[in-house]
Amino acid sequence: MSTIIYCSECLKEYSFIEMPLTCECGGILSIKRNANLDAGKFLNREIWSMFRYKNFLPLDCLGDAWKGITLGEGMTPVVDYGSDFGNLKIKMDYMMPTLSFKDRGASILVAAAKKLGIKEIVQDSSGNAGIAVAAYAARAGIKCSIFVPAGNSKKKIQQIYVHGADVYEIEGTREDTAKAALNKVLEEKLYYASHVYNPFFYEGTKTYVFELFEQLKGNMPDYLWVPVGNGTLLLGCYYGLLDLKSAGLISKFPKMIAVQSHNCAPVHDAFYAGEDVVKPCVNKGTLAEGIAIADPKRGKLILQALRELDGEVLTADEKAICAAAKKLAGDGFYFETTTAATFAAYFSNPDFQDKISVLPACGAGIKSSII
Ligand SMILES: [Zn+2]
Repeated sequence: MSTIIYCSECLKEYSFIEMPLTCECGGILSIKRNANLDAGKFLNREIWSMFRYKNFLPLDCLGDAWKGITLGEGMTPVVDYGSDFGNLKIKMDYMMPTLSFKDRGASILVAAAKKLGIKEIVQDSSGNAGIAVAAYAARAGIKCSIFVPAGNSKKKIQQIYVHGADVYEIEGTREDTAKAALNKVLEEKLYYASHVYNPFFYEGTKTYVFELFEQLKGNMPDYLWVPVGNGTLLLGCYYGLLDLKSAGLISKFPKMIAVQSHNCAPVHDAFYAGEDVVKPCVNKGTLAEGIAIADPKRGKLILQALRELDGEVLTADEKAICAAAKKLAGDGFYFETTTAATFAAYFSNPDFQDKISVLPACGAGIKSSII
């Protein structure tokens, strides 16, 4: 399928070659969905990675660029939690080349940069996306600068270094880190491989629900849980579900349940206030560093997705996040604290435990855990 990039605000269209950072109106860019998807092209069983769905994605512009980039990402298992939670399934999405779900988006984003002949990229991240982009950039032979908040998990920062990226640790908030990265992009006219601004990332995170559809034999769960900071997984799931429905592969959507940290919950606040846009909040500090986003740039799209998917937004406080991390490890699951926040919300909301839920284990405990 051809690749058309468009502005979420004014709908102006751009080609792959001319894609700017944002639209001239300031709007954020997305990739146009194909409304006439062919269910027969859903997957290629001979490819053992998330690229088995490549013919179902609007990524003709990439050609075979992905072949030199892939590290075998995707195809993560779904396991039953067991114990007291018979309706709970976990998609083990930390079982990835760089140990987080961000490899889904980073592999496609870096393939796009490679296809464009980009020599140097810049990215900002709380850690996982930075690691993923650094790894794929190393594989692609692209010079890479990653901006991270000072004080983030040392193991994550170390992993970025070992892939050969230049690491900039920025004092202040997560938003200060994003601003520093953007300044370098604008001043030096570099390619911003941002998982927030660059729409190619979301084509990768779509494959999370494509895999679920395949693994659950077409029976999507009643509740699809996602942690939400910048909304990379939430929006990928939303676009993927729209594609599955428009191809006639599913007839209804699962209910989406988004989880934020109680200490940084701008989406939660905007959703229940009936707002159309997400206003920035004050991040009071949270162990769930992967979703500590006070000003999500795709907030309007996140709210739209939640409303269309009959969504709810729950929050987890720091005490519950710690307790969930300990319970998970005691039951054999070693996940990072951002993932523990999603489970904390599940464990403390019995109203959602009577039907089938799928929760994502987005990051490995060995990268950042308080236990
Ligand atoms: Zn525009």
